[in-house]
Parts: sequence; structure tokens; C-alpha cells
Amino acid sequence: MTSGSAHRRADARDAALAHAVREGLLGPRSPLIGLLDVDGVLDAVDALNEAFAGPATVQHTFAAKACGLVPVLRLLADAGMGCEVASPGELEQALAAGFPYDRIVFDSPAKTVEELEFALAHGIAINLDNFQELARVDRLLAGREPAGPIGLRVNPQVGAGAIGAMSTATATSKFGVALRDPGAVEAMTEAFAARPWLNRLHAHVGSQGCPLPLIARGVGVAHDLAERINERLGRTRITGLDIGGGLPVNFDDEDDRPTYADYVAELRAAAPGLLDGRYTLVTEFGRSLLAKSGTVATLVEYTKSAGGRQIAVTHAGAQVATRTVFMPDSWPLRVGIFDASGRPKQGPTQVVDIAGPCCFAGDLTAIGRELPVVEPGDVVALYDTGAYYFSSHFSYNSLPRPAVYGYRTGSDGQVRLASVRAAQSVREVVEESGLAQVDALVELRAG
Ligand SMILES: *Cc1c(COP(=O)(O)O)cnc(C)c1O
Repeated sequence: MTSGSAHRRADARDAALAHAVREGLLGPRSPLIGLLDVDGVLDAVDALNEAFAGPATVQHTFAAKACGLVPVLRLLADAGMGCEVASPGELEQALAAGFPYDRIVFDSPAKTVEELEFALAHGIAINLDNFQELARVDRLLAGREPAGPIGLRVNPQVGAGAIGAMSTATATSKFGVALRDPGAVEAMTEAFAARPWLNRLHAHVGSQGCPLPLIARGVGVAHDLAERINERLGRTRITGLDIGGGLPVNFDDEDDRPTYADYVAELRAAAPGLLDGRYTLVTEFGRSLLAKSGTVATLVEYTKSAGGRQIAVTHAGAQVATRTVFMPDSWPLRVGIFDASGRPKQGPTQVVDIAGPCCFAGDLTAIGRELPVVEPGDVVALYDTGAYYFSSHFSYNSLPRPAVYGYRTGSDGQVRLASVRAAQSVREVVEESGLAQVDALVELRAG
């Protein structure tokens, strides 16, 4: 059953798309944009807060890689969220958005000395990935206490979900300390025994394609380990559990499924003591907070047929839908067809492939779909693309990053849009391609 908030979201999206066409923001001179439903994002934050409400203190952070657009991060900061970052760029985006240091969590499997020094100096929470990194932090601290919480990431090795590349808790995953490897639990216990400041465990079990019981089991393993270490070393050694993100998103229809409440129910079943208040919890959701509030909208430039196959050529391809294009079976997207004035298209259907502008044959965002007959000038919408799509641009073919707009609709149906990111200009593409060094190689050759 489709919930009321899902209906609102669909209506608001249609209205915003028509508005963008009317205002010329989506049109021949700007044939690709991203749209983000501000109320949809805030509804997701509310649902998350409600689901985890209880005795435990919970700091919800947003995984910046899911949508590192500064105004989006600012909206989330304003809504009380923290921010999980995993690169210097994401850290700067989070700071620019106004997240205070004590609401930032720094995860990355490859933190440099400089990055660690910065995080330690400012009290940013850090999740360390491995024992070498722990030894590096020992050297950097040189006996001082860090200002913020420091955790150690574990790989509970509970196995993979449906998408291998999205499964972080396999036996051989590159993330965290692999708990089932010989001696790992003893080494972890010793690491905590030797360092009073080491006070968190971190587990991010997986992401899209991982069933809830699998994710909950991984969190349960981390919780059990915390209990065991605390029993051995005294109750208050591990005070925080960072349970990561990874709630899968339903890309098949409009519904939010599973919900955060479904996930919390699984967590309670897998780890009954987890939420009783003895541990401060941190979460790091990304996709589930943003995906269903985002839309890629693009103009159909041409339609054609080849060998009996109908193809609509648009401006959205691998540059904004990278995963869908390269792994179409794992990342199918719902598609909507709108006419040239932005109204949902009705009428006769055809089976069609929706293609992008990139110069390789596989640049398809939908394959063999039955959709209303598509004509040049129509608009194609790729739904549920608020996370890891228009915000995770792939610069293939030197295609520019598209403009992104946030929208709200009033009770009177009026749409208000705000520019979140301007479209990258072709000039900017050329500048970031080494324009300032245009003569570098001919001079090297001449010299
Ligand atoms: C990517 C990532 C997340 C967010 O995952 P989602 O599936 O988008 O919720 C959280 N924590 C870590 C460590 C990650 O790498």
C-alpha cells in the first residue's frame, strides 16, 4: 500500500517537474537537471528520529557521499543531523555546511597522517579501520588524550547481500578488523585494554541489496563484542556503538520500504540490549534519507529504431546514473515520461530503451521498458535518484555536472524552487582539464 507521504511526494514531484519546464530551467539549453524534494528529505529525517526514539542517546549522521551538495548538508545540519565523511572533500563540505566538529564522524579506509592530525586536533570522531592505523594514532597522540571519540571498525563477516560491491561484511571485505580471523578478538580486546581513550566500535555492514536481518546480525556481532570487551575490562570502556547506515531503498515503486521502524525492530531482535541506553549510538544512513526525494529530469533529443529496437536518446546517462548504466540488473530505476509541457504522458505505449549521451553502446538508463510512446522534446524522469546519482557525477565524455534544484510545494499547489548547484559550464570543464597548463607537454618535448 502506498502511504500518504509517498502520494504527496509523487504529486509534488510532478508539480516541480512541470514548473521547471515552464520556467525554462529544463529545456533545449539545459536538457538535464536534478530535482530534490525538501519536504521528502525532512520527512525521512523525522522517520529516522522517531524510529530510534528511546532511552539510548543516538547521534544520527548523514553519509556525505550519498549527496555531498553543501545546501543539502546544511538542511540536514539544520534538522539536527550529524555528518559522516570519508574524504578530505567530504570533510570540507561538511564544515562548509556548518556541521560542528562534534557532530562529524570521520570514516575512511585510507586516512592520511594529515587528515588524522586535523580530526584529532578538532575533536572530530574517528573510526579507525585497522591496527596499523591505530598504531599511527598512538604516535600522533604521543601520550595525549584525543578530544573526540575514537572507534575501531569491525567486519563482523556475516556475509554478502545481493550486490557484491555493496556488501562490506564478507569474509574478505577490505573494511575493518575481520573478527572471525584467528586472534582478531584477542587483538581487539588488547587494543582497548591498552588505550583508555579508545571507546567505540563501528560496524557498517552493507548497503543496497543487504536484507535487514543480515545487517542487524552484523550490528549484533559488534554489540556482543562490545559487551564481551566491557566485561573483561570494566563496564565503561566501550561507551559508543556506531552502527553505520545501509538501509536498502525500494526502487520498484513509490513506497518507503523497508522503513526505519522495520530496521529498528530487526535490531531489537538481533541485539536486545543495543538500544537500552547503556551505549551512545551513532548511525550513518545515506541512501535511505535521500534517494526517494530525488529525480533526474532530462529532455529527449531524438528517437530512433535499430534492428527493431526503439531507442529514446536523452542527456542522462552514465555521467549521472553511473551504477545503473554499468550494473543495470542491480540498479534498475523507475522511469516516467512527460510531454513537452511537463505533463505526465498517457496513451499508447511502446517497448523502448532510454539511452544517454555517452559514447559507448551500454549507456542506457532503462532497457526494454513498456512506456508511453516517446517523442523528441518529451521529458524523461529517472525516479529515486536523490542519493548517489546527480550528486555523484562521473566526468565521462567531459559532460558537465547538471544544475540541481530543491523544491517545495505549498498547500495551494504552488511550487517554489531553489538553486542547490548551478550547472557546470563547458568553460569550467575545460579549465579543470588542465587549461592553465595547455603548453606543458609541447614545451617539455621542445626543451
Ligand atoms: C557508504 C557508507 C554509509 C552509507 O551507506 P548507505 O547505504 O548510503 O546508507 C555509511 N557508513 C559508511 C562507513 C559508508 O561507507
